[in-house]
Amino acid sequence: MILAETSTPLPQSVDARLYAATGAAQALAARITAAGTHGEVFIQVDGEAVARRIPTNALNASERFAKATRRIELANGDVLEVDDGAQLSRVLSAAGLHDARVTRWQHSWRMVLTSLVLSIVAAIAGYIWVLPFAADRLARLVPPSWMQSLDEVVIGQLKRQDSLAASTLSEERQTQLRNAFTSAVSTHKNAPTVNVYFFKMGSTPNAFALPGGSIVFLDGIVKLAPNDDALVGVFAHEYGHVLHRHGMRNLLRTALVSAVAAWYFGDFTTLANAAILITQLKYSRDFETQADDTAVEIMRSKNLDTKSLAELFRRMRDHSGVNDDDHKGADKEKAGTNEKPTPDAPVTNDTTDKSTAAAKGPKVKISPYSIPEFLSTHPDIERRIERFDGASKTAPKP
Ligand SMILES: [Zn+2]
Repeated sequence: MILAETSTPLPQSVDARLYAATGAAQALAARITAAGTHGEVFIQVDGEAVARRIPTNALNASERFAKATRRIELANGDVLEVDDGAQLSRVLSAAGLHDARVTRWQHSWRMVLTSLVLSIVAAIAGYIWVLPFAADRLARLVPPSWMQSLDEVVIGQLKRQDSLAASTLSEERQTQLRNAFTSAVSTHKNAPTVNVYFFKMGSTPNAFALPGGSIVFLDGIVKLAPNDDALVGVFAHEYGHVLHRHGMRNLLRTALVSAVAAWYFGDFTTLANAAILITQLKYSRDFETQADDTAVEIMRSKNLDTKSLAELFRRMRDHSGVNDDDHKGADKEKAGTNEKPTPDAPVTNDTTDKSTAAAKGPKVKISPYSIPEFLSTHPDIERRIERFDGASKTAPKP
């Protein structure tokens, strides 16, 4: 049998049987040979003078199963059967047609399972590392003017819903504290300028950093502090959050996750929900530890006693114990944890306010913007008291 010349020195061939479309019962012997690497094969059928030259993409070959005979349908309706599937693959491969890798993978349930597991791992890795990484990168690019505007919007919202009232601290006292805060970080490297606001939220002793980097002190914490050093410590902790852009990173992480979810599920109500998610931001334990590190660093650099911050923590812990009576219903499950309110718990109005007190029952005002609070987002208050107590012991003597 003479084949047309090919450019392949050792042409790959495989035997086949041909069932003619005319319906002849008798199969004809045939041989399929790779015709170069240009995507063509020769099919020499017994009794035919000239080999058929057929593009491989016109061959409708059945999927390859390990031991099954492969069927190939030709355009004219003739059908070829090949017993040696592996050799057929070599022929087709030599002709330039490779089994699509995807098709081959589909033949293996192991590959299917592996790709499923890999997809899940990729999604989790994306969630855990890629999105936070992207958010952290983005956070560095947000212009300071935007950050400031954002904080003004948040403060405006908190005021509108009566969560924040004007501070009762005198202007002199506020200036005195601002000066103490500014001087504490004056020598700090890469010191960003931060706006410090004073507000009153009932008797709540708290302070928090907003996503844009402003720091809010509530009258409650100023009055509870044993001395101003402790307040500088609180400021230094919040300053740590600002320095590392924790608020903006949290906010962008949430926004990115929501945007990706919206894109993936094609459901843009998810994106709308981002607004709600953003209100439930909590700092991670890592962020808190980082902020505590900054607090200790700044206090030591100014020879301030971190014991005063430990004492403030003790007072806050005890203060929340006292307040438990006011929040029996809402906070019963938190009994014994020595910490409340949590940022995702409703923000209450002034509990000492007679008009509110008159309205009996667990009537609490739910804030659309729950604040990342100084105390309650820190789960290990006892451990932290120990740390601030110990930090001064180990502080290097000047
Ligand atoms: Zn914090």
